[in-house]
Amino acid sequence: MGRFLGRLVVFFTVCLISFIAYTVQIFVIWPWYGRALTVELLQLLLPFNALVGILFYNYSKCVLVDPGKVPRGWAPNTTADGFEVKKLSGKPRYCRMCDAYKPPRSHHCRHCDSCVLRMDHHCPWINNCVGHFNYPYFVRFLFYVDLACSYHVIMLVQRCRDTAYRGDWTRMGSAELIFVILNFVTCIPVLLAVGGFSIYHFYCLMSNSTTIEGQEKDRVATLVRRGKIQEVKFPYHIGRLNNIKSVLGDNPLLWCWPQPAPGDGLTFPISNEAVNNGATTTSWPPEDPNEQPEGPFAGLPASPWTYENDGFNPGLRPTNSQLRRSDSSGSRRRRAAVPPYHPDYREGDGDAHAYLSSSDESEVEFMRPALRRGSEGYEVRPVNREEMLQRYLDEAPDKYNRYVPEPPSESESEG
Ligand SMILES: [Zn+2]
Ligand SMILES: [Zn+2]
Repeated sequence: MGRFLGRLVVFFTVCLISFIAYTVQIFVIWPWYGRALTVELLQLLLPFNALVGILFYNYSKCVLVDPGKVPRGWAPNTTADGFEVKKLSGKPRYCRMCDAYKPPRSHHCRHCDSCVLRMDHHCPWINNCVGHFNYPYFVRFLFYVDLACSYHVIMLVQRCRDTAYRGDWTRMGSAELIFVILNFVTCIPVLLAVGGFSIYHFYCLMSNSTTIEGQEKDRVATLVRRGKIQEVKFPYHIGRLNNIKSVLGDNPLLWCWPQPAPGDGLTFPISNEAVNNGATTTSWPPEDPNEQPEGPFAGLPASPWTYENDGFNPGLRPTNSQLRRSDSSGSRRRRAAVPPYHPDYREGDGDAHAYLSSSDESEVEFMRPALRRGSEGYEVRPVNREEMLQRYLDEAPDKYNRYVPEPPSESESEG
């Protein structure tokens, strides 16, 4: 079902792009230019179609390119000299779901059910993860959506300005008018939403961080602010130009051209500053010192008063709720359970005599050994002191001196 829904979203996205890209040309621009193939029309539409073509190509690459899986049997290199040795100072990252080591910057995606190299986020619009190998296509796709949508809006505005200039709205056919409105209504929200998203991703591109690492940076900043850890520099920021090169390729002239991602997604250069400060690829993200340690006790609940399903002891259910529930079924228990001085007692709920009466069965109900959880988590039972005393006497007959009336002694009668 999830896979079908994912493909449905991709189909919807393709339909939306096609609608915006082609209805404007067929129903708005074509009639505007007099339904004739002129040089002016080609000059207007060829660049637009080139943008749409490259946008679709990048979109298909986002959907189809594997974002990057961890190679089978991959393990962090702790034997080589130099840079890699520094990794020894950190703890190797391990994915318990995949039962394999995690390269730096990779994360486990529960939708894809695998670890993804340099994972950014799982994107429903492409039904795929955005990872090391399709991130360049993703950034280019956002860039071309911004360009194509802007071009589209400018064409529509020009069309409307032309009609307004002539002052003759009646010359615009009803189909044309409807498609002008529909194109505005679909294109402008897309431009605003994708535009905002692109600004964030262009910022990420320049700071060489992923969406997940952006969240990690926020968390680290909070820990530093609270004085829990020392300030840690993000180690992958290697200068703006190098950051962009590490994603879009070394040649700036080809940044907009759909070319594959550089690198293998398993190792990443870290900044000299970070190396000098003793940072390694495994020292990011720094851990919260107060966090529960991983290990044999990691799965235990934090509180000894909880059971394995994180619930309370099923025997320690508050009595009143139990009794109130049965009260709704017409029984007299509630009145019996809540005495008149109790905060839950309500005046209208029957007479107080029902509680006070000792002869009827409600008294029996109240004396029933019910369990309830006190504020400290103890079991609190109503105490029957007579029964308790009897139990002690039965258990330890020698503990108490009983007064047994002595029979009149013979010596007394003798005396
Ligand atoms: Zn995993
Ligand atoms: Zn995913």
